[in-house]
Amino acid sequence: MTTAATRLKDKVCVITGGASGLGLASARRLVEEGAKVVIADLDEVRGQEIAEELGGLFVRTNVAEEEDVKNLFATTVEHFGRVDVAFNNAGINPTDDNSILTTDLAAWQKVQTVNLTSVFLCCKYALTHMVAQGSGSIINTASFVALMGAATSQISYSASKGGVLSMSRELAVQFAKEGIRVNALCPGPVNTPLLRDLFAADPVQAQRRLVHVPGGRFGEPEEIAAAVAFLASDDSTFVNASAFTVDGGITSAYVTAE
Ligand code: NAD
Repeated sequence: MTTAATRLKDKVCVITGGASGLGLASARRLVEEGAKVVIADLDEVRGQEIAEELGGLFVRTNVAEEEDVKNLFATTVEHFGRVDVAFNNAGINPTDDNSILTTDLAAWQKVQTVNLTSVFLCCKYALTHMVAQGSGSIINTASFVALMGAATSQISYSASKGGVLSMSRELAVQFAKEGIRVNALCPGPVNTPLLRDLFAADPVQAQRRLVHVPGGRFGEPEEIAAAVAFLASDDSTFVNASAFTVDGGITSAYVTAE
């Protein structure tokens, strides 16, 4: 019988952005369920600490650099013999990406490179190994803003997440017969350093967003990690090409209760 403690037994999971927020909570959850994790992040100090805490491997990676990403998946396979799950999750949300009228080309391109080109690279090099194995689950972190428009615009961020969603869908359709699933995870606003740095620390800014969430609160990283564990596991073998929303209902809400 599969239990929570063994659902991911010996599955080798690569987690980009694993040193903070959603990646960190997911790394902890995957290990709790029996997985072996590879933490890939720019932050060498935290990345190394977390890998040690979890008995995993840290590979210093800039997901925007092709050689780094190639090395990440090659090192994973060298070390663990396979790669079962790629949680392509690292992303940024800088404040100089805002209204199209005030966002310059450099700010646009930086977000496209870190949030979208990175997912292209991670899928490419994960798939190289997964196709050879004939199995794998790829989970790409998009966002609820891939599905909705915001007047408080972050134009490149939203466009990058839309790109992650459609790229995931296309790869899912192309590789389904090779035993590989690809899903786009679409979290709602979650209480992580990324969100706190951006607006959650300011009560007025936070309230402007919270009014749209039916439950009136931001999500917690552990609530997203539970979905990641499901998508990583064989409990989700018929979940493919999805926009997997874990969003407290924000994408279905028109007017919320007072
Ligand atoms: P976070 O800032 O807490 O963590 C992001 C991690 O990615 C950090 O450890 C950082 O060092 C790493 N990183 C950044 N750039 C990198 C690069 N070039 N190469 C390697 N690592 C890099 O953020 P988070 O809130 O956990 O966000 C994780 C993902 O979830 C992002 O893709 C984000 O867009 C998405 N997301 C977050 C929310 C939210 O509300 N927090 C909602 C929807 C989607």
